[in-house]
Amino acid sequence: MKVSRSKELFEEAKKYIPGGVNSPVRAFKSVGETPRFIERAKGSHIWDVDGNEYIDYVCSWGPMILGHAHPSVVEAIKEQAEKGTSYGAPTELEVKLAKMIVEAVPSVEKVRMVNSGTEATMSAIRLARGYTGKNKIVKFEGCYHGHVDALLVKAGSGLTTFGVPTSPGIPEDFAKHTITVPFNDIDALKRVIDEYGDDIAAVIMEPVMANAGLILPELSFLEKVRELTADRGIVLIFDEVITGFRLSLGGAQAYFGITPDLSCFGKIIGGGLPVGAFGGRAEIMDYLAPEGPVYQAGTLSGNPLAMVAGIKTLEELKKPGVYEELREKGKKLSEGMKEAARSAGIYDKLCFKSIESISIVYFTSVDVKNYQDALTSNTEAYAVFFRKMLEQGVYLAPSQFEVAFVSTAHTDEDIERTVKAAEVAFREVREIL
Ligand SMILES: *Cc1c(COP(=O)(O)O)cnc(C)c1O
Repeated sequence: MKVSRSKELFEEAKKYIPGGVNSPVRAFKSVGETPRFIERAKGSHIWDVDGNEYIDYVCSWGPMILGHAHPSVVEAIKEQAEKGTSYGAPTELEVKLAKMIVEAVPSVEKVRMVNSGTEATMSAIRLARGYTGKNKIVKFEGCYHGHVDALLVKAGSGLTTFGVPTSPGIPEDFAKHTITVPFNDIDALKRVIDEYGDDIAAVIMEPVMANAGLILPELSFLEKVRELTADRGIVLIFDEVITGFRLSLGGAQAYFGITPDLSCFGKIIGGGLPVGAFGGRAEIMDYLAPEGPVYQAGTLSGNPLAMVAGIKTLEELKKPGVYEELREKGKKLSEGMKEAARSAGIYDKLCFKSIESISIVYFTSVDVKNYQDALTSNTEAYAVFFRKMLEQGVYLAPSQFEVAFVSTAHTDEDIERTVKAAEVAFREVREIL
């Protein structure tokens, strides 16, 4: 496979951009490959600058649920661009997208648009703190909520210690208000709430963890988290930046029948343009400026291009049968991958997880139920698998801890080709597992 142009561009990029990329995982560092510089994309396929074609399961890390360059999305963006790309004043488009989100997501009565998922979680936490007058927040180990200072925190040592920053540049004073507990462990959360409940503003969680591979919640765990937080007047924030409009039109909360107080969105609701949003009960949302005292603002928030891309995407998703189609395709891929592993004779050494159109293969025989389990994966083996898939024209996430997304544009043929490639790649991995 020729990658000389990507190599050249990466060298050039490193001169001007830290690490050559604008988001770390794009650098392919953990899989020991040259990042592919992408030239164009259409449907389920992407093409790099050396002319290689790939079936894409990264889907821009989630947003491209309709596939790339969906005709109605592209048309709407072009039409809007002719009318101007930003006004810094309200538009009908913002009202329309907000109304679509409120109608689709059970717990959301009001919603505020921002420009990224990070901004959404950051703002939701500020709002929860402003609303409750409390300081601490609880998060779960391995959940990613963007690069917000207070959320780039891991558990300290000991049972219920305060967080330590996972990145330089975050003062310990910022991290100490964040308490981290293991996912799917209701007793740990209970202990923390018993001890610090009077000063906890919010519990924030991905209802399905999709940034440490794919970790599914036990339904009783979600129910109990809701119960415990409601009892103590703690704001429950669902970070649905991935699961929103992915698991169902109403996100994970509709899928599992759990009602959070606030929800964060991003990715899909921007149809591939930069966007985020947070919303929830009107009583809480009305604490935001200019209605209330909690300040939050954005020059490009509710940007008209992002709004039309989001509106068109949600319009497509609202059509009957779309989520059934996504589920079928997701199932075909995950079942096919299992079959490929069986044929290659390494099924027992892997852990497969999937839900609707999201899936993952962990290179561990441990049944992954939390972050510590996920860390037992053999990342070297994943790197071998990844490289062999890439070479065969299948573009997976360049990290063991990122998921595969299927879009409506993926065809049966795409998936069959992927499964065939996987059998070859699994055989190669067998040598080292
Ligand atoms: C991607 C992601 C974010 C951050 O969104 P950005 O747009 O990258 O800032 C937050 N939460 C979850 C669950 C995500 O997957």
